[in-house]
Parts: sequence; structure tokens; C-alpha cells
Amino acid sequence: MNKESIYGLTIDRLAEWLENNGEKRSRALPVWENLYRKRVTDFAAMADVNEACRELLAERFVLSTMEEHTKQESADGTVKFLFRLQDGNLIETVLMRHKFGLSVCVTTQVGCNIGCSFCASGLLAKSRDLSAGEIVEQIMKVQLHLDGEGRGEKVSHIVVMGIGEPFDNYDNMADFIRIVKDHKGLAIGPRHITVSTSGLAGKIREFADSDLQTNLAISLHAPNNELRTRIMKINRAIPIEKLLEAIDYYLERTNRRLTLEYILLKDVNDQVEHAQELAELIGETRKPLVNVNLIPYNPVDEHSQYQRSEQESIRAFYDALKKRGVSVSVRLEHGTDIDAACGQLRSKQIRREKVASGG
Ligand code: SF4
Repeated sequence: MNKESIYGLTIDRLAEWLENNGEKRSRALPVWENLYRKRVTDFAAMADVNEACRELLAERFVLSTMEEHTKQESADGTVKFLFRLQDGNLIETVLMRHKFGLSVCVTTQVGCNIGCSFCASGLLAKSRDLSAGEIVEQIMKVQLHLDGEGRGEKVSHIVVMGIGEPFDNYDNMADFIRIVKDHKGLAIGPRHITVSTSGLAGKIREFADSDLQTNLAISLHAPNNELRTRIMKINRAIPIEKLLEAIDYYLERTNRRLTLEYILLKDVNDQVEHAQELAELIGETRKPLVNVNLIPYNPVDEHSQYQRSEQESIRAFYDALKKRGVSVSVRLEHGTDIDAACGQLRSKQIRREKVASGG
């Protein structure tokens, strides 16, 4: 049996486990500090934890369940990691440098079942959910990479926007957030964490009622059902009206700002009329709490029907929203000289392996 990743335990569960196994609950804190502050990579290196406790932990848990397969570094400092999991699956994690700090984009599932028509990740159906430990470990691996560079840099922000639909792996995603925001450990503030969903309405409500308190981003990508269904098949099951009801519930419950992600696809959803329709959809009451984030599309070979919008179209779309009082931003691009689109590095490697195995 594979041992479990220790990074999947919240500090309370770690304390409970220690107690159930004959140790003191209070040992959880030094273990936790060794994991997240000292960032040891071996239980034996937990010098301030007694030997019996270290051995007990080593019998049940591991500090690494994934290996770095590939690392691509971009001229702008973006680093894409491809990790091989214990079961052989590959996942992608990205480190991005911003003026405001260092952010990591994590993956929550192996593949994705949402099937957005523009997405390289969604080409491969979900084979399983990642455990909370596997999601936390992505942050730890990136942090260890930074530690190794010796500049004292620390991951300051997290975006849960990599491969997978986080709300389709809700419990593990929620534990992941509780672990990384714990102030005794990595202490990444909830306002520095953004979870992005394709719009699972029921889960948006659950998230609004939860203790997680991170930022939320919703992939809208179209201002009406006809277009959204074309781009995102999830819209058949959860049309825009249902999504707006969940958004209103979220805004009312939390009074927190929300981001609507809008990927700009040339001649598909990037016309000024679409921007006007989008402004109307958002409406006056939601406007103060909503920001639209425009994402210029990164073309991928697998979706040749989609092209990147012209710079003038992006500008015109932006201006049309601004003119109507909608808060709007354009996502800055990272790592354009490497496999920039989400999931691209992984899907290329999977293709290579299939060719090599004759599959
Ligand atoms: S964009 Fe996100 S939700 Fe949609 S298919 Fe890709 S990974 Fe899944």
C-alpha cells in the first residue's frame, strides 16, 4: 500500500492522528513547523521532534508522492513544472512572477470532465481527483525550488486554476485551502488565494457558506446561453440564469468581490456587441462587486477553430465595458516563450508517451 502524503492533513487532523497513535497532541505543532517553516524533506531531519514520533510518522506517511518530470523556465521568470504522480499520471503546476509577489497555479484533478471547447486540459477526461496532499505538495515542490535558488523568495499567492474543476473535487480543495492558509504554516492569506470554477452553481453556494473566505473567479466566457453552450458544454446543465442566482447568493452572503473570467476568442465572443450584452447581464446591482478579467486566448494545435483576438478587438471590448461602468482588467501573460496554454505541457508529454508505447 502506498503511504499517504503528510501534506494532506490539517493541523487538527495531524494532532488527532498523533493522539490516536499514542503520541501527545501537542507534538503536532513542531511537526507542522518542520513541514512548512523549516521545510524538511525527511522525517529524520525533524530535530526537535522525538525519535519515536518521527518513526511513527515515517511508518504511515511520506513527504513526497510526486517527482519532477520536466521543468520549463521562461525568460519572464515563469516556471512550468510537470510532475509524475505515484500512479504514473502527470500533472502541471506553474510558478508566475508578478510585481505583487509570486503566485502558483495548482492542478486539482488528473484531466477534466467539464470539456470547455478551447481548453487543452479538458481534452483528456478526468481519470481521478487529486488528494489534498497532492495539491499541497505542488506548492511545497515549488517552494523547495525557490528555497534551492537561495534568494529567500516565498510563494505569496495561489490560483486554483490549473487542470480540473476544483469544485468537482470540493472536499480536497477545501482541505488544501485550510492547510495552506494556516497561519502556523505557509500562512498564505485567503485574500491571496483565488479559486476558479466553471460555474457549478450548487458548489458556489456551498463555498459562500464555508469558512474558506478566498477569492472566487467564475469562468463566464460568453454573455448569453447560446454562445456559452457553444464554448462550454457545462452551460447546458447550468445555464446563465442559474449561475447568476448562485452569484447573487455568493455576493449577498459574502459581500466580497468576484471575478468573471472572459476568454477572448477571435470572431466568436470578442465583438463590442458581446461586451454590451455582458455589461447588461452584470447589471447595476452586481457591478460594484464584480470585476471582469479579459483573457487573450493562447492558441493550441488541438483547437484550431479558435484564434487569438486582434489587439484592437481586445481594446474595443475593454473600452465598451469600461464605458458602461464595469470594472475590467486584461490578464497579463506569462511564459509566452514556453508551452503557455494551460495543460499544453502535459498533453504534449502524454502524446509523446502514447507514440512511444505505440498506443
Ligand atoms: S477550462 Fe478548466 S474547467 Fe474547462 S475543461 Fe479546461 S480545466 Fe476543465
